[in-house]
Amino acid sequence: IVSQVSQHAEAIHARQLVSGGQLIAQLNALPLQNQEAKHLDTQIAGVQTRRKAIERQIKQDKTHMHQLKGELVDLKNAFKRLNLDLTSVRDSIHETCLSLPNLVGKDVPLTAPQEVCSINPMPKYVADPQRDHHDIMVRKNLVDFKSAATVSGNSWYYLVNDGALLEQALVSYATKRARQHGFSMCHPPSIAKNEVIDACGFRPRDMNNEQQIYHLAEGELGLTATAEISLAGMQIDSVLELPRGVKKLCGVSRSYRAEAGARGKDTRGLYRVHEFTKVELFCWAHPDESGQVLQDLLELQMKLVSELGLSAKVLNMPANDLGAPAFRKYDIEAWMPGRGAFGEITSASNCTDFQSRRMGTRFRDPATGKTAFVHTLNGTAMAVPRIMVAIVENFYDPATGMVKIPEPLVPYMDDKTHI
Ligand code: AMP
Repeated sequence: IVSQVSQHAEAIHARQLVSGGQLIAQLNALPLQNQEAKHLDTQIAGVQTRRKAIERQIKQDKTHMHQLKGELVDLKNAFKRLNLDLTSVRDSIHETCLSLPNLVGKDVPLTAPQEVCSINPMPKYVADPQRDHHDIMVRKNLVDFKSAATVSGNSWYYLVNDGALLEQALVSYATKRARQHGFSMCHPPSIAKNEVIDACGFRPRDMNNEQQIYHLAEGELGLTATAEISLAGMQIDSVLELPRGVKKLCGVSRSYRAEAGARGKDTRGLYRVHEFTKVELFCWAHPDESGQVLQDLLELQMKLVSELGLSAKVLNMPANDLGAPAFRKYDIEAWMPGRGAFGEITSASNCTDFQSRRMGTRFRDPATGKTAFVHTLNGTAMAVPRIMVAIVENFYDPATGMVKIPEPLVPYMDDKTHI
């Protein structure tokens, strides 16, 4: 691991999670810490052996009982102290291992995204304040930010009337397309244990990283930022059979984002909110297949964006934007004229064996009969509020005051072509 990480030091540094140098220093300390843990283990075993011997001796002969009982007290104290030391060394080893990000794919750019291709003809990039989704949706009574501010706070919202119907339509459309591409449906829980969130690479306890996870006051639980967490968790400590090389699941859930690191950014409208509905694609793949599975995920995402008539670009994301788990990630950004900018609407990542090592998820290789860590991948099929922003801002006609509904959504919108 140390030599692999050294080779990737530049990319790891670019991730800005842990500086490459600091990480290598932490890794170099591991063998010594491991030795220390073994030494403490041996000492603890010695203390226990001595304790048992004394107890036997007392049973057989009470002559030196007083002196031996004193020794027993000393041994008990030594046992406690050694165990505390062992816990501390083991915690430190565990923490170093958990703070390791995944390796980085060879052709991943370091610090700037690389445009791969575009979807649908691009409009002129002219910002148009008349097309601001916030104003349009409030005026048309599709969203209620005012009540949400009273009830929950800023960056919360009620979708109402055709706004609520549009959410349902987007979810129905995305899940139907996912099923057509071989994904099974799942509605997962929105609360997960911290250890599961952690194993997924979200580091709920790390106060230095951007905080995405809402913690629940009671117990070691958090609200899931994405269905990826609860879907990945379904296969903790298990061995998958992958007769077709891949197992595909489509999760529909509410996603909760504390967005503490993004405070003050994109505070207007639906672009960056604390709770939203998301249709997530999740795959477990044979390591030989995961590269192709990522391309398949991206292709499905591109189809969905294209069928909705949105103009967008596909980006090969740089190392400093991969987060801890991804080995490679593609984002799609759609043009949003009201914002006067492109905005991220989907992302797709190959996490290789980063999550499965932490979760103990293996697959049985049909060729050898042996088990190995599986690769995990995730991709957004539909992040509802962002797609709403793109639809409203691109398909609003200031002349009629109406928003045109993309054709594939019309059957799910009570056949309304405009709202
Ligand atoms: P992520 O899981 O962070 O890759 O996000 C998946 C998708 O969810 C992104 O591509 C965005 O479209 C959307 N998204 C992420 N964060 C938010 C947020 N705070 N509010 C609304 N949509 C979001």
